[in-house]
This record gives sequence, structure tokens and C-alpha cells, in this order.
Amino acid sequence: MISLQTPITSLPRLQPHIAKKFGQLQLVTLQDALLYFPFRHEDFRHQTTIDQLAAGQDVTIHATITALQSRRAWHRRGTTITNATVIDDSGAKIHAIWFNLPFLAKSLHVGDHLFLSGTVTEKNQRLQLHNPVYEKPTATPLHERLIPVYRTTEGLSQRQIRLVMKQAIEVAEMLTDPISANQLHSLRMMSLAEALRQIHFPESPELAHQAVERLKFDELLGWHLRVLASVAATHQGQAPAIPFREIEVRSFVQQLPFELTNDQRIAAWQILQDVAQPKPMSRLIQGDVGSGKTVVATLVAYNVALHQRQVAFVAPTVVLAEQHWGTASRLLAGRGVSLALLTGQAAKVMDADGQPRDVTRAEVLRRVADGSIGLLIGTHAILQPTVVFPDLSLVIIDEQQRFGVDQRQALLTARTETPHFLSLTATPIPRSLALWLSGVLSVSSIRQKPAGRPPITTTIIGPNTRSVIDQAITKTVARHEQVYVITPLIEESDTLGVRAALTEHRRLTEAFPHTTVGVVHGAMPADERVQVLEKFRRQEIMVLVSTTVIEVGIDVPNATLMVIEGAERFGVSQLHQLRGRVGRGTAPSTCFFVTDQTSPTVQQRLAKVAATSDGLAVAELDYNERGAGDLYGQRQSGLPTWQLASLTDQHLFERVQQFAAALEPDEQHQLRQRLSSHHPAQAFHRE
Ligand code: ADP
Ligand code: MG
Repeated sequence: MISLQTPITSLPRLQPHIAKKFGQLQLVTLQDALLYFPFRHEDFRHQTTIDQLAAGQDVTIHATITALQSRRAWHRRGTTITNATVIDDSGAKIHAIWFNLPFLAKSLHVGDHLFLSGTVTEKNQRLQLHNPVYEKPTATPLHERLIPVYRTTEGLSQRQIRLVMKQAIEVAEMLTDPISANQLHSLRMMSLAEALRQIHFPESPELAHQAVERLKFDELLGWHLRVLASVAATHQGQAPAIPFREIEVRSFVQQLPFELTNDQRIAAWQILQDVAQPKPMSRLIQGDVGSGKTVVATLVAYNVALHQRQVAFVAPTVVLAEQHWGTASRLLAGRGVSLALLTGQAAKVMDADGQPRDVTRAEVLRRVADGSIGLLIGTHAILQPTVVFPDLSLVIIDEQQRFGVDQRQALLTARTETPHFLSLTATPIPRSLALWLSGVLSVSSIRQKPAGRPPITTTIIGPNTRSVIDQAITKTVARHEQVYVITPLIEESDTLGVRAALTEHRRLTEAFPHTTVGVVHGAMPADERVQVLEKFRRQEIMVLVSTTVIEVGIDVPNATLMVIEGAERFGVSQLHQLRGRVGRGTAPSTCFFVTDQTSPTVQQRLAKVAATSDGLAVAELDYNERGAGDLYGQRQSGLPTWQLASLTDQHLFERVQQFAAALEPDEQHQLRQRLSSHHPAQAFHRE
């Protein structure tokens, strides 16, 4: 008898080394598999012939392999490239190319008939299928069905995943539906078991759609109920009322090297008003990249520290924690407050004398615990119970991913007095979500960019334009301004991305012997990353090659040229975030989107991002970007991570709110428990 708890490793017909691969996807039991949704359904019912193909289309063809070859890429060590030429009844041929699937050459043979499904791309004026999904025709004619496609890991094929999923849906009925039959009836939604069967193996596109709606509803409902619970808990709590220290704060503002924008003033004012109340604040500052959120947060932190109370300022990475330390220690030097930095790499303190110094971790911990540090800056680790704050009154979270619901909950359970809570995000919040959030969070928006910022000119350029790029680098460096070169995201795992960065670093080092070229990537230890960025900040490195690790938050106003290689591989919001690393000073900035794709779809998409500097417009592009068969789009940074739902699901937000509002508090509580047991926490954390 198989059940929800049956380990995948115990299933028959599954070789042990394959069964183990499921563990890498964090799938241990059949229930885990059941709740691991496909990200796409390949529609094998709509086939095209090769002579009809055009770049940019999503297609399925039925063809025969005429040539097959696998080789190691010469320019990227460790990469295998498998090439197939296929022909179909139209007599036309096309190339299919796969990266890093070395086993392919063994499982495919010349003469095999295949269904190939994927997006047509163009390379050197020739069409090709890049990493298409392939299927050999089997007894059940696949081409009559919608086929699920799952995120996978190396060495685990779609076919093997489907085999497990077939068994998983057998036990779907055993999972209790968190929503009663009556409620489902009035919601006009299918049962959970039916939804699970239909999302994995849909009988029709219509049923697939209904399944997705039902599962998104559960995801959003689970999130909404958690938010409501967190708010309810917060409102019961008592927070310290922290009065506005007008004289000191005004003097702080006067000594800034710039004038605050009006939006910054308003945001600061709103926060100062909130923290003056004995009710815990939950506020989000939303402002596009470069809008100047940090200084507002620092100002508020200062006001709190002046009252001998404590602030935790949490950055998403060590590099950003260092950056905030740099900003805060500069702006607060000599202002009578003590601050500290604590990361896995560094421990620093600055006292009223304004001299930052390196100390031991133990000293920082001791001084936080005796209350003499007013502002502690660090990564999420500073919210662990090992860091004892006797008087934590304000928590600031930069580059907030999940609107603070979860962290907030963790903090609440630990304390009698609830700290005020402020989060910062560059993710634009569409009106629909803002309305939803407004019930639970207050939002301050910084829309204005600081005055005197010249626009960023964005240009799309082709691949054989090394000279254009190199000239731009030469000119930028000659003006003593700095350059970022972002290397493309090759595959989901960043190992190849790292190689691309190293290769580009070598090329630029040779091409520019008279300037300093540095490199950062995710596989580097954090302290090395910090050092490289520190050198970049001090202009000891003029050209910085990087993977997307610099995407979030880095602020070096002297950088004015951004080169994004393989631009078509990035999501539009990501391109906007990356571009936001330049245009932060007073000199004009340039951004190049480099791509070798000439297809109109790719070009138009990049052109749209190039044409706008408005984050909200870019976000809307992002939401509209998903293909018809996609169940979920690219992960958007800075949003709650649902498996299926996204911000486009406005109609569902409304239904979820109505549904929850009609429940009694204890019903809400029970439903929340049931939903969270179906969507274990890891499902929310999984990238
Ligand atoms: P983000 O909102 O993306 O986190 P930052 O807080 O890093 O932006 O600020 C970006 C840059 O703009 C910093 O160098 C900061 O010193 C500067 N800055 C902030 N506010 C202003 C202002 N009102 N006028 C000019 N420059 C400002
Ligand atoms: Mg920032």
C-alpha cells in the first residue's frame, strides 16, 4: 500500500541513484511530490512543421534525428553541448541544442522519432531549438495530451519525474481538503484531490486552468491568513512610544551632503509619527532603485537611538551590511550614539567619539546585551536569539522579500514588548496588492528621484560589438568613472555563471592592461566579496566583472557604465534592478544590453525596458511576460514566494479576502493550520 508518507526511494521501478536525485529537489515522500507542481504544460496537441517555424515561437514538432553529436565546449570548461539535426515530413531541417545533458547522447540515436517542444531561437541567422523538451512516442499517444514539465536537477529526466508523479496522484485523495465541500461548492472550485490530479496530468487546458486557480487560491489564502494572524498578534502588543527629537534630527538633516527629496521627508515624517505611538508600527518604504531609502531609515534609527533604545538594521547580504555600516558610521559620527556592525566576517563598533574600530564578536554581543549599542547593523543572523537586545524598539529590514510577515512573527514570540517594524523594498507594488496590503501594512512611497540625477541611456547592442563596449569602457575609465560588466546567467545553478565571469575577467584584464579589473561571483567566500567591493568603492578597482550577486542594493555613485551580457536571459525586473546600479551620481550614465538574439520578441522586450526608467512600468511588463503555457513566471525579486500565484492574480486576491472575512477567528486559525501542513514552510522558501 502506498500512502502520502511513502518515501520516493521505496517506489518500485526506480533505480536508487535516480531516487536519490529527488532528495536534491527536497522531495522525500509522495506528498512532497504531489505538492511539487509543474511550471509548464507542454501542449503536444498543436504541432507545427519545421518549414513553418519562426524565431520566438513556442512550438512542438514531430521529427526524426538525422545527426547527433555531443562534445565538450572549448570556451567553457565542463560544459557539454549536445547537437541534433532533425527532419520532418515537410522535408525541412532544424538544429536542436542542449547544454549539460551528457546522458542525452546515450539515450537518443540517429533515426529516432521524437516530439520536440520548446522555443525557436535564432543564432547566426539560423533557427534552432534551444534545450527543447523531448519525448519519444509511447503506447499512450503523448501528442494528444498536455504534458507536465518540472524544474529538475542534473541527471533526473522529465520522464522519471512523471513516473513518480503518476504514483503520487494515486494518493491525492488521502490529502484532506482544507476547504469543505460546501465552501467549495459556493466558491465553484474543484476539490484539492482533483486539482492535484489535474495540475500534474491535465485532461484538458480548461481543467488545468481550474486546477491552477484552486491551488493558487490555497496559496494566497494561506498567506493571507498568516498575515491576518500576524497583524492580530501585533495589535495586541504594546510598543515603546518614541518621541521625535526635533533638534537633533533637524541638525542631522542639515548636515547631509544633499537635500532630502520631498518624498523622503514625507516618508521620514510618517515613520516618526508611527513610532511615537505605543502601538507597534508595521510600515513598508517602497521606492525605486536609487530613490534613497537608506538615509530615511538611518534618520529614523538615529531618532530611536537618541532615546537610549535599540535598533536592528538587517541587510540581505554581508556586502550590503558593510555598505550600510559605511553610510551610518559616516552620517552618525560624532552625534552621540553608539553603533556596531556584526556579520560572520566582521565586528565593528563606533562610539560617541566617532572613531570606528574593529572589535571581537564577543565585545559586540556584550555591548548589545548591556544596552550600550543603540544601532546594530548586520545580516539576518542578528535577529537570532543569540543576539540579546534588552531594549529592541525598531527593526529595519532592507530589501524585504516577504513583507516582514514571517520575521515579525519570530520576533513577537520572543518578546513582551513588540518592536516597531520597518521594511524597505524596491519592488513596485501594483495597486491591487497595495490595496490588499493596506489592511495590514502602512506603505510610504518614495517616487521622486533625488534632484540632479541625469537619466541613464540604455542601448541594445549585438554580440560582435566588442569594440563598442571596449571603447565605452576606455572612455569611462579615462573620466575616472567606473564600470560594471554583468555576465549572463547561464543555467539555474550558477556554476557556469561563475565560469563566464572568470572568462570575461581574463579577457578584460588582457584588453585593459592599464586599468584595474576585478571580479565577484556567488561562489566566492563572503569576506572576499566584501573586499573586492570595498576596493571598487575606493576606486582601486575601476572595472568590476560580476554575476548577478551585485543585483541588490550596491551603491557606488561613481559607477556610470553598466554592461549586461546575455541580456535576453534576465527577467525584465532584474534588468531594471541591475541598471539601477548606475545613474546614482551626478554624471550621465550608460547601460548596454548585449544580446546575440535578433528575434523580434527578444529585441522588443529589451527595447521596452530600455525605453522606460519607471520601475512600475517594468514590473507590469514582467507580469505580462509569462507565456501562455507557463504556470508561473520568473521569480520576481522582492515578492512573497508562492509556487503558483503571482501579483497578476488580482481577481483571486479579492476572492481570498472575501472568503477569509466571512470566517470566524477560530475557523481562520484552523484553516491556517491545515493550509500550512499542506504547504510546508520549505515550499515557501524554495528558490
Ligand atoms: P536605494 O533606495 O536604492 O536603497 P540608496 O539609499 O542606496 O538607494 O541611495 C542611493 C544614493 O543616492 C546614495 O548614494 C545616497 O547617498 C544618495 N541619495 C539619497 N538621497 C539623496 C538625495 N535626496 N539627494 C541626492 N542624493 C541622495
Ligand atoms: Mg538600498
